[in-house]
Amino acid sequence: MTTPDFAKLRAERDAAIEKMVKEAARQLWGDEAADGISYHVNHGGGTWVCYCACADGGPCEHEFSGWRDFEDGLGGETFCQRCGMGAMSHSMHTCWE
Ligand SMILES: [Zn+2]
Ligand SMILES: [Zn+2]
Repeated sequence: MTTPDFAKLRAERDAAIEKMVKEAARQLWGDEAADGISYHVNHGGGTWVCYCACADGGPCEHEFSGWRDFEDGLGGETFCQRCGMGAMSHSMHTCWE
């Protein structure tokens, strides 16, 4: 099995999301506003730094290791060394059962 080309997968995903968001914005606010909007949409368990298709059984770019405590002191979690996403929010987005 070859390593997936995450950079390409991310670029394709981001382009698809951007197109979708801009099209929606264009219908709501018109061309000018649509070109100026900024958006932050996480797709599934992915982030702008890491590609993740765990929800579809696809490849995942997150590199979970290390440990950090929750701010409220009630436990902790391992987190991604690349983007900082916590394992908790990752599984919230990718485990549907
Ligand atoms: Zn994942
Ligand atoms: Zn990550």
